[in-house]
Order: sequence, then structure tokens, then C-alpha cells
Amino acid sequence: MTTQQEALAAYFQAQQKKASDDEQELVGLQCLFLAVGLRKLFRELGAWLHNKGEQTIRPDEVLAVLEQIRALSGPYKRTLASAIAVACGDAAVRSVESTHVMLTIGGAVDGITRPDFPAKYFEDTFHSIPVGGNLLQEWCNRAFDSLSIDKIKLEIEKGLSEFRSYQQVARALRETIPGTSSQIDTLTRTYMHTATTEGTLAVYRANSDIVTKIQWNAANEETTCIACAWLDGQRFPLDNPPPCPNHPRCRCCLTPVTDGNKYVDVSIPSIQQAARVPDTQTWFEQSDKRLESLVGPNRFALLKAGKVQFDDLVDPGTFKIKPLETLLPGQDTRKIIADLKDKGD
Ligand SMILES: [Zn+2]
Repeated sequence: MTTQQEALAAYFQAQQKKASDDEQELVGLQCLFLAVGLRKLFRELGAWLHNKGEQTIRPDEVLAVLEQIRALSGPYKRTLASAIAVACGDAAVRSVESTHVMLTIGGAVDGITRPDFPAKYFEDTFHSIPVGGNLLQEWCNRAFDSLSIDKIKLEIEKGLSEFRSYQQVARALRETIPGTSSQIDTLTRTYMHTATTEGTLAVYRANSDIVTKIQWNAANEETTCIACAWLDGQRFPLDNPPPCPNHPRCRCCLTPVTDGNKYVDVSIPSIQQAARVPDTQTWFEQSDKRLESLVGPNRFALLKAGKVQFDDLVDPGTFKIKPLETLLPGQDTRKIIADLKDKGD
């Protein structure tokens, strides 16, 4: 029997998962937009170098050219920082909105405060507050400068330079694009995720009479890291949770731990219906491939034949996977599996 608290927790998790999927889509679009701008800049730089043709170039001239490229890229780096800050402002405002809708169970619960932060407030915050020890503008400068430009400089300083013409310099810089793109992608994802978390926390804090703590939730996929998996499910005070994102490209989210009093009049079926997201078990059962990769071929054979249910696979006392041999008490599980597989072939 599901308790009110369990239904609420499942509902909040489902909503945060949904919000995080939406965010990924939004971030993807934003990254695409920034990548297009980056390519345009490199095209312009390439054309500028190209005009100098096959002229030979001395090491001191290469250094001068690199400085000029830095100067030309200045406006782009500033535009980049602004574009990321604007995207963060939007993401935070959307997050305030969706977190408010979530806490009201889609409007079913009254008296949930919705803090009023304009996008500009978050935008300014992301311009002026260091994240991971650096300001946004510094991160953007680094993403742009740290690749070929520094490599070329180092080569020249070591006297290993292969650069004999402007076109060779242009070629080396072209190789920078993929690296810069992926750094900008990571930067945008991490910043926008920070913004989303700030929006979420702003709503939780404005409702600290109802939201007593936050719970950390990892994405729980193949790519989840050990630190995030360790944090998964742990609860922290509202004013001092571990920083989320926990690392670049982290996909964790924070769900509210609530004092259920506000929610006593909301029936469990209506909460479950509002979740409208399959639980983990249903998600895996939607696809045989997914389920087989989760449980392995032997347990998969037993599940498909209806010999066991998904819930039977784990020991509820220890939360550990039950050994295969104990799944069918009093029967030779291995032989049954072998027979099932023979039949399947
Ligand atoms: Zn994480």
C-alpha cells in the first residue's frame, strides 16, 4: 500500500526527471546556436589568413598573427558569455515556473509561494558570481584560447615550429574548432544546469515551511559517476546542499522532502496520475532489450517465462541481488533456465 509520502516522493521525482529531460533539449538547441556562431568566426579568421596566401611566415610573425586573432576573437568571446548568461536567466525562470507547478501538484494545492525573480536577476548573477572558481567570461576566454593558440605558441617557444606559411597557421587553427566546440558545449550545459538548480532551490527556500530538506537524485544511467551515485537518495538541509551540478555535465537533480500536511487533501490516485511517468520497472519492461541489459540473459529468461517477477530479483532486507540459485526455491534454477533457452532457440 502506497503511503501519501511515498506517492509524493515518486511524483516529485517523476516531475524533476521530466524537467531535466526538457532542459537537455533546450541546452542542445543553445549549444547548436553557439556552435554556428563559432564556425562563422573561424570562417572569418580563415578568410583573413587566406588573404595573406602562401607567404612565408617567421616565428615572430606567427606570434603577432596569434595576438591579432585573439583581438579579433574578443567580441565573439564577449558575445558567447552574454549568450550563455541569457540562456541561464531563461533556464532559471523556467525552472522557477516548473518547480512551482510541481509543488502545487499541477495547481491542486493552494498557498505555495512563487518567488518573483526576473530573468535579468539570474543573468546578472551568472555574469558576476564565479562558478568553479572562474567567472563566466574567464571560462569563455579559456575555452577559446586554450587550444591551438597556446599549442602553436609553445611550439615556437621550443623552436619546433613547422609553420612556414599563413595557410599552415590557418590549418592548425581549423583543428581547434572541434575542441573549442566541445568545451563550449560542456560550459553551456554546466552553466544552464547550475541555473536550473538555482531556480529550483529559490522555490524550495521560499516554501521552507513545507519543504524541509532536499533529496539528491542521480540520473542512474550507465554514465552516472560514482560520486553522484553515492549522493543519490541522500538528504540535505535547504540552506547548504552539496553544489549541484557536482561536476561538468552532471545530470543530477534535487527533489523536495516535504512536510505532507499541505498535501493531505490530495488523493494518492490524483498524485500518481499527475506523475504520468512510468516507474523504473515499467520503463525497463517497455523494451525487452532494456530489461535484458539490466538483468542479464538468465534472469531475463525467467522473467519472460513468468517464473519470477521483477520484484523477486532483489532481497528486500539487504537490497542486494538474490543469487540465481535461490530464485526458485526447491527447484533446479539453472536447469530450468537451460530448458527455457533451448525452447527459445
Ligand atoms: Zn551528477
